Amino acid sequence: MIKKLSFVVFAAILVVVAVVAYKTITNTPDTITAETLTAENIDVKDAAERLGQAIRYKTISYSVDHPVEEDAFKSLHNFIDKSFPLVTQNLKKEVIGGYSLLYTWEGSDSSLKPIILMAHQDVVPVEKGTEQDWNYPPYSGKIAEGAIWGRGSLDDKVSVIGILEAAEHLLKKNFKPEHTLIFAFGHDEEIGGQNGAAEIVKRLKSRNISPLFTLDEGMVVVKDVMPGIERPIALIALAEKGYLTLELTAKAEGGHSSLPPRATAVGKISRAIARIEENRPPAALKSPASDMLETLAPHMPLSLKAVISNRWLLDGVLVGELEKSKTTNAMVRTTTAATIINGGTKDNVLPSIAKATVNFRLLPGDTIEDIKTHVINVVADPDVTVEVMQGNNPSKVSSMQNKAYGVIAKTIREVLPDVLISPGLMLAGSDSKHYEEIAENSYRFIPMRFGPDDIARVHGTNERILVDNYGEIIRFYIRFMENTKN
Ligand SMILES: [Zn+2]
Repeated sequence: MIKKLSFVVFAAILVVVAVVAYKTITNTPDTITAETLTAENIDVKDAAERLGQAIRYKTISYSVDHPVEEDAFKSLHNFIDKSFPLVTQNLKKEVIGGYSLLYTWEGSDSSLKPIILMAHQDVVPVEKGTEQDWNYPPYSGKIAEGAIWGRGSLDDKVSVIGILEAAEHLLKKNFKPEHTLIFAFGHDEEIGGQNGAAEIVKRLKSRNISPLFTLDEGMVVVKDVMPGIERPIALIALAEKGYLTLELTAKAEGGHSSLPPRATAVGKISRAIARIEENRPPAALKSPASDMLETLAPHMPLSLKAVISNRWLLDGVLVGELEKSKTTNAMVRTTTAATIINGGTKDNVLPSIAKATVNFRLLPGDTIEDIKTHVINVVADPDVTVEVMQGNNPSKVSSMQNKAYGVIAKTIREVLPDVLISPGLMLAGSDSKHYEEIAENSYRFIPMRFGPDDIARVHGTNERILVDNYGEIIRFYIRFMENTKN
């Protein structure tokens, strides 16, 4: 009997090993070869000058209560009108919410749904005290060391001006789109997009426009961030995480500290935070993070490839590994970050209230309600109340099996033939969330090439884009618009 059982176990192990090996070996990269294209003849030097000029207008979003930098936006608009005369002549331009720009380039086939290209004109401020750390002043738009320097060179004037360069170039070639192409350039993305993107969507909705898809900022071409993969990877974000800020308030008896109650407000709020940190929402590998790993697995070292190709057996191991680094952890769970704590003003007075703020980034599938309930349950203290201060649910996950994804991927293969292409999950937020109600699918990608140091330049010091890379970005938009045709 024992012998028989051990034979069964042995046979079972053999089968498992065989399946693991088979799944690993047969997980090979798709072999799609792009037609080689002759690089579009554009004057990148001139284009770089124009992006540099656009950076000089300080279209800064400070906060929702801060007045809009009206002069800067108006000057940027004038500059755009003058610099892209064919766009100005041939496209319908509307100013929405005071400063957002909506361009409509009528397509030849009105039965086709429009395609929306998005970008934002505003930039974040430069943190006080860091101005001197920049190699070139942050609003100089200086061209040096083969790069264009300044706020907006990556986030996201590069895209506003890059799209306009592409359209101007195509108009010169008498190109006529088939789908109507809409360019939507918000002016307050960095502070939520309420007066920009949200208003643009209202306008589009009033015209019953439901686009085939939107393409916005989000992910980029990364290098040296994925273990064992040397080729750069173009990550097309299919979704963005949600955002939630909860405020916790602990109440307790106030009074003199010589006669304290057993539990103080400060103690209660501390315990609440500790419980929230100890009971993070569970990790799980779901789309689109799972799509990314599955797409890239064939290019990974054997051990990783074996694990990812055999999730039927090793999902727990894989998720456990992903939890270990900050970046991959953020891909597999709703993250928890306690960011503010407050309570008490005097060393011998008991505060009757203590407060804390916790910021969550929600994985697609989780909702604001889910997380709030989770927090109330783990805090489990009737003296601690939980209130939503700010929040938006995660976006839908867009399809990677449709014309839209195909056009983006084809364009990448043609313009950046050296890169791998993969879907991804955007960890930060974008204006695309406002388009959820009118767009079935939204993609978030700009072909900016990022090494491990470059992410820190976004919203940070020494933001800059290499001139050659800017050329690729313009060619990407040109080819993208052409590829929407067939
Ligand atoms: Zn941005």
